[in-house]
Amino acid sequence: MSDSSLISPREGGDLDRPGASSPEAPAFAGDRLRGDFPGLVTADGKPWHYLDTAASAQKPQAVIDAMSRALGKDYATVHRGVYSRSAQMTLGYEAARRRVAEFIGAKSETEIVFVRGATEAINLVAASWGMANIGEGDRIVLSTLEHHSNIVPWQMVAERTGAQIDVCPLTEDHRIDLGALEALLTPRTRLVCLAHVSNVLGSVLDAREASDLAHSVGAKILFDGCQAAPRMALDMAALDCDFYALSGHKIYGPTGIGVLWAREDILDAMPPWQGGGAMIDRVTFEKTTYAPPPQRFEAGTPMITEAIALHAAIDYVDALGPDRLFAHESALAKQLRDELRSMNSVTLFGPEESAGIVSFALQGVHPHDLGTILDEENVAIRAGHHCAQPLMDHLGVSATARASFGLYSDESDIAALLRGIERTQRIFG
Ligand code: PMP
Repeated sequence: MSDSSLISPREGGDLDRPGASSPEAPAFAGDRLRGDFPGLVTADGKPWHYLDTAASAQKPQAVIDAMSRALGKDYATVHRGVYSRSAQMTLGYEAARRRVAEFIGAKSETEIVFVRGATEAINLVAASWGMANIGEGDRIVLSTLEHHSNIVPWQMVAERTGAQIDVCPLTEDHRIDLGALEALLTPRTRLVCLAHVSNVLGSVLDAREASDLAHSVGAKILFDGCQAAPRMALDMAALDCDFYALSGHKIYGPTGIGVLWAREDILDAMPPWQGGGAMIDRVTFEKTTYAPPPQRFEAGTPMITEAIALHAAIDYVDALGPDRLFAHESALAKQLRDELRSMNSVTLFGPEESAGIVSFALQGVHPHDLGTILDEENVAIRAGHHCAQPLMDHLGVSATARASFGLYSDESDIAALLRGIERTQRIFG
């Protein structure tokens, strides 16, 4: 095991006290924690070495149960509450919003907009705030390592408005270069959009420093927090950012739900982006007025069951504690890097100190072939461009192999991966 230790909330964590986590919690037994995740076994009952948590996390039983209850005996729609089941469901949905607010240190739950995922959160900011506040000759700063979902929406805004995109380069060890960011900023920079943690390299951004730099020229800053939550304790006030995007399925919650956090005054001034039910104040054919945030940005029947299951997921991870998750996963990443470095013909990408994500290449083996052979050994990695083609161009490769760790990962996953890599090297001579 890595020196960091985790304990399953089911087995001894303090789930009744949301937000509770104790660095002194008793030592963690990996198999006990894995037992919370029914997805971590193969169809024939063998351990599945799931090393693709950066793409999407497996779900603990507590989340599956919450989703199942919400879809079953508790089910009704929300915000239509003349009957008690709907009123109850509305309470559950809004409790999920409060839980998210507490988890990320928002000032108020009215700053939490439920969306489909981080992609939708960023598109919401682009379509609403971007189209209202970015004009011809303005500048939007992105970085070389961004996920396509933090590139393409801004290219669409730039195309429509005549704004320019500036790309902040990386340091030699593949972190966003904040010195270069400072040099790129101009009084015409309206927005800076950066990944808090890279989904390919695990590089962690000094987010507060980036916020201060953006604000020094009057720009707003958006963080793509997909890989930061739940493994970094988030506090919107401490980050002093303007927008923060999250995906529920990366926080051990269900797919189909994510969060846009935006500062209250900014959200208040933003025009709606989708029209329909639930986002209005009053509709006539002459004029429609809109509800205040967050409802203004939640047109239509929302992701009710997903929000309730996300609440359960946050309770689960928060009981373990974000700092301990980070320590656990990054220790495994360090161990894997050390092992890979001692092997022949392996190239490593990314900084030495990182979140639990390791990208690498084997000389003479396409990452897809490696992924296919590993699959035969019940090891799941990701192979490809990881929705970061500009980063692949920068690294001079078309694809990498990526192993990413979750709270349930342990040394047995690393051992299985290394066995599979050695077998692949033998096959490819
Ligand atoms: N940004 C980053 C850094 C990601 O890792 C991902 C998911 N791979 C996304 C954005 C997009 O998230 P989603 O597909 O859940 O909207």
